[in-house]
Amino acid sequence: TETTPKPPLTLYLAAPRGFCAGVDRAIKIVEMAIEKWGPPVYVRHEIVHNKFVVDGLKAKGAIFVEELSDCPDDRPVIFSAHGVPKAIPAEAAKREMVYVDATCPLVSKVHIEAERHHADGLQMIMIGHAGHPETIGTMGQLPEGEVLLVETPDDVPGLEVRDPERMAFITQTTLSVDDTVDVIAALRARFPNIVGPHKEDICYATTNRQAAVKAIASHIDALLVIGAPNSSNSKRLVEVGKANGCAYSQLVQRAPDIDWRALEGITSVGITAGASAPEVLVNEVIDAFRDRYDVTVDLVETAQENVEFKVPRVLREPA
Ligand code: SF4
Repeated sequence: TETTPKPPLTLYLAAPRGFCAGVDRAIKIVEMAIEKWGPPVYVRHEIVHNKFVVDGLKAKGAIFVEELSDCPDDRPVIFSAHGVPKAIPAEAAKREMVYVDATCPLVSKVHIEAERHHADGLQMIMIGHAGHPETIGTMGQLPEGEVLLVETPDDVPGLEVRDPERMAFITQTTLSVDDTVDVIAALRARFPNIVGPHKEDICYATTNRQAAVKAIASHIDALLVIGAPNSSNSKRLVEVGKANGCAYSQLVQRAPDIDWRALEGITSVGITAGASAPEVLVNEVIDAFRDRYDVTVDLVETAQENVEFKVPRVLREPA
């Protein structure tokens, strides 16, 4: 029998990609909590924004809920990596629940910044996406109405502030590095004395994944970002691909989501993965390309990461 030769394809694999230290830690926290206390362990909100990860933890005995009111008093509950408003652990403590906070330490750092500026009497502005759990959690560190949300430079002129001389800003950790520069410029133009972090609060993982996409975006026919539709940092990677010259830039959760018709005629593709997407899904996508193309993989590594976060002490102690 004759087989038609597969067309050649160069696959540029961006590095760093996929799991960050905060996601790795959050998943470990759920696994160790189930080991320590036995199933079921409740998790408030998707521990990280990835269905494959969530399904895997469900199979081990995690129950995912959106609200603390959906959890019984007598089972442990874990708060997701994105962070929670202060009222949530306070409510858990009031109900005498066992709870473990899987908030990424880099998100907690932003929470502390917000509290410090508030204590100094500064009014806070958060640059972030409305409705994202991290934004809700960070804004919820201060009393209702104390943090003003800004999504784009266009939001800046309309801000009603107490005292333009006494302002500070913080950011979500998973924003587009380039877009955030514009928002900060608009804030500094209107509030020249605004206090902020040295650059912004975008984390190392977000920064590195975006830089890796930038390095390949202009010389690939298509970019596939492996990640979930509700994953902020994954969505930003798609935008970074587009903004840097790759018109066909798409988010896929898994290999079956790939639109092969749209990819017809391509000779190069870039692949990356959001901070909550496991490497098995990257391999699944690469294998799907190998089925259809004669693939050459070219690893494009723009940074090396060696960040690791410890799990909370309660999980390191014997039961
Ligand atoms: Fe932490 Fe950044 Fe990962 Fe979010 S993306 S969990 S802030 S390391």
